[in-house]
Amino acid sequence: MIAKYVYYFGKSGTEGSKEMRSLLGGKGANLAEMTSIGLPVPAGFTITTEVCGLYYKNEKKLPEGLMTEVAAGLTRLETEMGMSFGSAQDPLLVSVRSGAAASMPGMMDTILNLGLNDETVEALIKKTGNERFGRDAYRRFMQMFGDVVLGIPHADFETALEFVKHKKGVRLDTELDARDLKEVIEEYKKVYKKNGKEFPTKPMDQLIAAITAVFGSWNSERAIIYRRLNDIRGLLGTAVNVQSMVFGNMGDSSGTGVAFTRNPSTGENLFYGEYLMNAQGEDVVAGIRTPLTIDTLAKQNPEVYKQLLEIRTILESHYKDMQDIEFTIQEGKLYMLQCRNGKRTAAAAVKIAVDMVTEGLIDEKTAIMRVEPKSLDQLLHKTLDPKAKKSAILLTKGLPASPGAAVGKIVFNAEEAAVETDKGEKVILVRVETSPEDIEGMNAAVGIMTARGGMTSHAAVVARGMGKCCVAGCSEIVVDYREQLLSVAGKKFKQGDYITLDGSTGEVFEGKLPVVDPELSGDFATIMEWADKYRKIGVRANADIPRDALVAVKFGAEGIGLCRTEHMFFEGERIKYMREMILADTLEEREKALAQLLPYQKSDFVGLFEAMGEKPVIIRLLDPPLHEFVPQKEAEIKEISDETGVAYESVLTKIASLHEFNPMLGHRGCRLGITYPEITAMQTRAIVEAACEVTKKIGKQVHAKIMVPLVGKVEELKNQKVIIEKVTDEVLKEQNMKDLHISIGTMIEVPRGALTADEVAREAEFFSFGTNDLTQMTCGFSRDDAGKFLKEYVEKGIYERDPFEAIDQSGVGLLMEIALEKGKKTRPDLEVGICGEHGGEPSSVEFCHRIHLNYVSCSPYRVPIARLAAAQAALREEVK
Ligand code: PEP
Ligand code: MG
Repeated sequence: MIAKYVYYFGKSGTEGSKEMRSLLGGKGANLAEMTSIGLPVPAGFTITTEVCGLYYKNEKKLPEGLMTEVAAGLTRLETEMGMSFGSAQDPLLVSVRSGAAASMPGMMDTILNLGLNDETVEALIKKTGNERFGRDAYRRFMQMFGDVVLGIPHADFETALEFVKHKKGVRLDTELDARDLKEVIEEYKKVYKKNGKEFPTKPMDQLIAAITAVFGSWNSERAIIYRRLNDIRGLLGTAVNVQSMVFGNMGDSSGTGVAFTRNPSTGENLFYGEYLMNAQGEDVVAGIRTPLTIDTLAKQNPEVYKQLLEIRTILESHYKDMQDIEFTIQEGKLYMLQCRNGKRTAAAAVKIAVDMVTEGLIDEKTAIMRVEPKSLDQLLHKTLDPKAKKSAILLTKGLPASPGAAVGKIVFNAEEAAVETDKGEKVILVRVETSPEDIEGMNAAVGIMTARGGMTSHAAVVARGMGKCCVAGCSEIVVDYREQLLSVAGKKFKQGDYITLDGSTGEVFEGKLPVVDPELSGDFATIMEWADKYRKIGVRANADIPRDALVAVKFGAEGIGLCRTEHMFFEGERIKYMREMILADTLEEREKALAQLLPYQKSDFVGLFEAMGEKPVIIRLLDPPLHEFVPQKEAEIKEISDETGVAYESVLTKIASLHEFNPMLGHRGCRLGITYPEITAMQTRAIVEAACEVTKKIGKQVHAKIMVPLVGKVEELKNQKVIIEKVTDEVLKEQNMKDLHISIGTMIEVPRGALTADEVAREAEFFSFGTNDLTQMTCGFSRDDAGKFLKEYVEKGIYERDPFEAIDQSGVGLLMEIALEKGKKTRPDLEVGICGEHGGEPSSVEFCHRIHLNYVSCSPYRVPIARLAAAQAALREEVK
């Protein structure tokens, strides 16, 4: 069967539907759907995403047969509209818009008013009786076509427009009359000439060029970056929507707007939007003029407003989700140009999901699926300290475009933002307005502030998508790029000066303000409760100190999956004893130093057990190579020599002897405990003594688990187990607590350990996959150095994602499955979890769910993300 390339929507029939998103793109599928449910949509047709795929397969040529189908679509459209494309009497004009299956706002091309030329414009003027409108549409088309399709610099058109405005002595485009606009058109023709480009006068040629340009924009640099940043992959390309034009710029009874069926920042169940009268769509989205809020429309045009409210209800009950809509009013008549599930902040996503369950629109399971686990990060981060805010110096107030708090140094362009962030600075990107070219800088900055543009401007939409704090439309500020100055409230700020943004209120403050932790109750708690009801895999936290353990419990951790004990050895006096231990020449000296460390370790473990009560606490024995504990600088080495009384030269020699060419594969992990059994003995004693103490104190058995790192051969574990068991028995006897069970297990992070897991499981009561090391050793990528080239690996598609971020399922994942199967064969009740960084990454959590691990363990702040991702994994499986 020959593929169908074009799908029509209109009164004479609609071929697409909302289910056909991957073929028709989001925009095309929803235009068809809205037409089908009787909403006022200008008729048109969609060229499928498959055609885009063919275009690229075919060395950037449109596939054969496409234009025949397009011509048929046009004829149908002409009949429905009673107009004719390219006619000098009653010309049909069309818009040509991109629209992929995943929303990529503003990243691809759009051409409006297509079909105009010197002849058709006269017909348009005659028909509408509005010369100014006709000429304005024509000059807009010339500008858009030249810029988007032919690549003529946008600035050339701006200069030509400015030239006519200057001559006339006016400031705004709207102050130009029909005659002036005619002059603008003549100037634009010169721009084309100057750039060596020809303006195609035949509408069919314009259409072919526009379709080709939209396909071309799928692989523009900014579109590629956007897809990478938003993890959009596996799509064929963009669809192209050709739709009969409706005009928002036909005078004061016309206009255009963007709205959300609920507030996309807070989730409040209120109609929310902005519009501009006498304007075309791009004017609102581009943020060039600051629009009016939708409530103003209630006064300005109550009839249209009422109709919009009705459409809002219809759309929500049809799609059962918050919609983002674009509309145009042409001489008082409303048209819908787009609807899609609205992008929202995490706070809004949570509130909308919970509210919609209460309203009976969706069920709990759907609500869980509606919140992007990764986005919860936004809710778990800090906001401005309200107390400090009271006395802070408020510089200005803009629109609260994307919530959260951002404290950073001012930079005035996107490149600078990326450069300074790479240096470790926190920066706030201050711009008059942002454009898609700024996307990388916006991603780098901690916050974004713009002088122009509304809640739906580029800056606002992109920042919300990124979960980044943004204050937009600060109309009182002056941004001078040349002088690199921000002027506001009679003050001047230069690059590097600090400001603080409150993205939830739109306030901008001078200097650095303190921030506070988020509130985790209300709707957030409800969603988390529902997630816990449906998830099947446990969630624990990686926490090394009692403070982190308490945060982890607050976030819902069901235990500690990894306590890295080495982190306890740096603070205060501890590092001194640690160094004494390392520099010691004899066992006796080492034991003396270790005895000094024991009380510190023990008190930390007491804190951990107290924080966790009866929940499991897995404590890992010392892991990193010892050189990480000794200094390299001369002055510090001297200091050690003075403190320990060991001769400077001897200290130097000892430090030099710790040097390794490949420390990650060197003397670390259980290899330390094997060569220095006294370290294992001291740590075991500290753990067991602490466990006894807390058990006695709380009257309930704590759940202590000792984990041996970097085991590749069962004999390594056996060796350590002898020491651990001996000390454990001693302490339990001393404490008279023989009933207290201390389990002993191992990390699986060396490929050999995974491959021989059946043998390892004979000695281990539990496994925990250390996927950081397991990835390092399986893929052969250094954890510390691979960052330099892995980005390119991902860009080139060699690895789909950075394997240190998301589990490489077909490689490292396969090894995990082998280990799991072998381990369980020996010990069916073996407990198996994961404690590498992947434990809090949603796709990895789903993988762990699928292979039936008992739990995932991740940093405390990612615990809610893991809980939600685990619930979604379980629910997705239910559907299958
Ligand atoms: C691991 O290797 O995955 C792990 C958790 O241990 P570390 O990161 O401390 O090496
Ligand atoms: Mg490790």
